[in-house]
Amino acid sequence: MEHLDDQERQEVWDTIKDALFNDYIDQFRAEFLELHPYDQAMIFEGLDVDVRMQIYTYLSPEEVADFMEHIDYEEIEPFFSEMDPRFAAQVFAEMSTDDAVDIFNELDKDKVASFLTIMDKEAAQEIKDLLHYEEKTAGSIMTTEFVIVEAGMSIREAMLHLRKEAPDAETIYYTYVIDEDKRLVGVISLRDLIISEDDWLISDVMNERVVSVSVAEDQEEVARMVRDYDFLALPVVDFQNHLLGIITVDDIMDVMEEEASDDYSKLAGISDVDSPDENAFDSAKKRLPWLVILLFLGSITASLIGRFEETLDKVAILAIFIPLIAGMAGNTGTQALAVAVRGIATGEIDKQGKTKMMLREAGTGVITGISCGVLITLVVYFWQGNFFLGLLVGLSILSTLIVATLAGSLVPLIMHRFNIDPAVASGPFITTINDIISILIYFGMATAFMNLLI
Ligand code: ATP
Ligand code: MG
Repeated sequence: MEHLDDQERQEVWDTIKDALFNDYIDQFRAEFLELHPYDQAMIFEGLDVDVRMQIYTYLSPEEVADFMEHIDYEEIEPFFSEMDPRFAAQVFAEMSTDDAVDIFNELDKDKVASFLTIMDKEAAQEIKDLLHYEEKTAGSIMTTEFVIVEAGMSIREAMLHLRKEAPDAETIYYTYVIDEDKRLVGVISLRDLIISEDDWLISDVMNERVVSVSVAEDQEEVARMVRDYDFLALPVVDFQNHLLGIITVDDIMDVMEEEASDDYSKLAGISDVDSPDENAFDSAKKRLPWLVILLFLGSITASLIGRFEETLDKVAILAIFIPLIAGMAGNTGTQALAVAVRGIATGEIDKQGKTKMMLREAGTGVITGISCGVLITLVVYFWQGNFFLGLLVGLSILSTLIVATLAGSLVPLIMHRFNIDPAVASGPFITTINDIISILIYFGMATAFMNLLI
């Protein structure tokens, strides 16, 4: 079924609501189950609680599990709380293990424990195993539903095995090959299996150079590898190369979205992206701590200007260029910051080398500095009729642009070096730091060359 547009969804919604209202269970099942689980989830989320309760009696745990996987994990808790616990446990057991684990991570510990006790033993064990892994590592996003064969099997045996395992596997496109010690020794794609002769051995056709990730690997790094190698799934192994799970490309897409919005909100100095349905108080609570810190940093700038009071008294005209110089420092710093954070996030910088990038940024600072410096010197000269004032502002812009560009790229690099997520070197911080630097340069030079200005 195609992705529904709003009007189609409205129409389907109306028939479905109609069926629910009249208790036409067969009609409801026929209409609802024909939809893609994503569209089912969208419709389900918009229903009132009493209608949802009705749906839990109309559908099997497996049918509910199918669309629950498409609901935002942070908003899913109420649905599982309102279900009969036994039914909820069955739904969890029917979900992909990795999705069930993601949801369990959002629920409180007592609830998790009680679901695990009433759940099917085997499913509960699989979930428990995955719950141990640290958040945002390969282990926490992998799933244990993969297909394995042994190297000594014939293609015929392997195909029979695959057929048996296929209904529950997360992907059947890759079959992983293990040895007697359960170590990962090869991989074979469905295409390779299909085009091979029945009596060939797996070991003859398998690919022995398996790319894998370690369970403890950061999920961002895993995402990068999936992107670079273009596989539909990557195997996850422990330090002895035992196959523990697989990570499929659909989970990687969620990771990339999560990391991108994380990085973005940190850049703006917000700890978590404000979701549209959040109220003003919640949003304010997240932003206020950062604003208060920045307020104090801003006062440093203010007190710096105060220290140059004497200089300002003698040449009052200096004041009108403060916003210009500080603003330019902030602008160029933010540009350099964006480039650096992006380079770090995509891994480009590690490949290219940090020195090379710093040299390039310094070069950029010099070129933009000279251009803007000359331009503003002329503007100030013709506007104020004071050549030295023009030169002072021009030189300040030149040095400020060089230093601010370097600061914009150096700060995230240093943070990266100390394993702090560079995206926390938020734009506002760079701007404030650059304000301070630029004010020091501007007034420092003005004080030094005071006699030329008067
Ligand atoms: P092709 O790209 O040639 O059309 P394909 O579409 O059948 O191949 P791909 O998903 O592109 O399959 O995978 C290409 C090859 O990579 C397959 O032969 C598969 O066995 C192999 N492969 C899959 N996963 C891994 C892995 N983790 N490490 C190394 N090789 C792998
Ligand atoms: Mg391919």
